[in-house]
Amino acid sequence: MNQNKYILFITGSILHVHDKINKNEFCSRYPREPHCDLRLYIQNSRLEKHSRLLNYEYYNVIFYYIEKILLKYKINTTFYTTYSLNRKNETLEINGNKYVIYDQYLGKSFNLFNKAFLQIKDSEILDNYCIRYLVESFRIMGMSIEASIFYSIGLQTNAFEKLNLAYSTKSECTAYTFIQETFIILHEIAHIIIKQNPRLISYKKREIDQYIDKQPFSLFNNLDKADKLIGNFNLDEFRRKNLIEEIICDYIATKYTFELFFNNELLTAEEFAEAIYLGLRTMRSINLLNGIISTYVKRPNERKSHNLSQLFRESSIRYWLIKDSIRSQYRSKYKTKFKEDPLHNLLLKDMHDYDSFYETPFLNVQTILKKLSATLKKHNSLKNIPFSQQISVLNEIDHMLGWR
Ligand SMILES: [Zn+2]
Repeated sequence: MNQNKYILFITGSILHVHDKINKNEFCSRYPREPHCDLRLYIQNSRLEKHSRLLNYEYYNVIFYYIEKILLKYKINTTFYTTYSLNRKNETLEINGNKYVIYDQYLGKSFNLFNKAFLQIKDSEILDNYCIRYLVESFRIMGMSIEASIFYSIGLQTNAFEKLNLAYSTKSECTAYTFIQETFIILHEIAHIIIKQNPRLISYKKREIDQYIDKQPFSLFNNLDKADKLIGNFNLDEFRRKNLIEEIICDYIATKYTFELFFNNELLTAEEFAEAIYLGLRTMRSINLLNGIISTYVKRPNERKSHNLSQLFRESSIRYWLIKDSIRSQYRSKYKTKFKEDPLHNLLLKDMHDYDSFYETPFLNVQTILKKLSATLKKHNSLKNIPFSQQISVLNEIDHMLGWR
C-alpha cells in the first residue's frame, strides 16, 4: 500500500477547502457550532467529547466532495461533525432543514479496524476494542455493575493499554479509512436521495428480492456453521422493505465513491474495492456488537431487530451483496483499471482471514454476555445484593470468565 498519493491529495484538498471556507463561500453549511435546534438534538442524543479533539479540516474535505453529488439531486444540507461515544452517523430533518451528522469516533474505529487487519495483523486488538466498547456502552446506559466488570477485565488483561498502543500506532492505511468514511456518509445521503426519488427503489429490487430468498452466498460459505448461528430467517414485509432500501443505499454509495475518488488513484483498483468492502464489514461488526448488547440489556434497538440471528443474516446479505455492487462497477466503466476481478480475490481472502477479525471477537462478546446473564440471573439482581456480597459475586464472575 503506497500512501504518498493519498497524503498529497488530502493535504492539497485541506488547503483548498480551508481557503474556500475562509473566503466565506460555504462556511454556513459546515458550521463548527451547530444551530440551536441541532445543538439541542445532539445534546439529548449523544455523549460528546471535547470539540478541540475534532478534526474539522479533514471532514470538511469529505463533505466538500460529497456536495457535488448532492448538487445533482438539488439537495441542500448542513454537515456537522461530532465526536461522541455513540459512534453514530446519521441524517435528519429539523424544521425542514436537512442535516448530516458524522461521528469522528466512527472514523477512528474504521482506522483501528484497518490497522488491526491490514497493518498490525493482530485480531487481539479487536478483542480489546470490544472490552472498551462494552465499558462505554454500559456506562452510557447507566449500568454501572456491568461497566465495572468490563472495566476490571480491561485492567486485568491490559486491554486498554494495548488498545491505546494500537490507536497511537501510525496508520499506513488512512487512504482506506478516507474511502470508507466517504462511503458511509454517502450511504446516509443515499437515504435522503431515495426519499426524494422513491422510484430508485425499483432499481435492482427484483434481483435483490431473489437474492434474499435464495441467499446464494451459502454456496460459498460453510453454511453448516452459519446455519447453527443464524437459525431460521423470516423476513416480514416491513423488514424486507428496510433491508432492500439499505442494500440500494449501499449500491448508490458504492457508485458515487467510485465516481468521486476512483480516478485519483489513491489506492490500487483492488485496494479501492477492498476498502469499500472492509468498511461495510466494520459497520456490520459494530452493529452486531450493538445488537448483542441490546439483547443482553433486553432493550431492543428500535431500528434493528432484537432478534440477533436475523440481524446476523440480514447483515450477511448486505456484505455479500456489496461484492455485487463492487463487481458491477468493475464490469462497467472501470474494468480497464482492474488487473483481475476484485470479487474473486475478495472471496478467496474472505474464507481465510476476514472472519477471525470481523466476526470472532464480536461473537466472543456474545458468549461472555450470555454467561454473565446466566450468573446474574442466579443471583437475581446484583442491585439488590449488599455491597459486601457484590464483591464476591464479581469475583465469581471473574473466575467464570477466566480473567484471573
Ligand atoms: Zn442505511
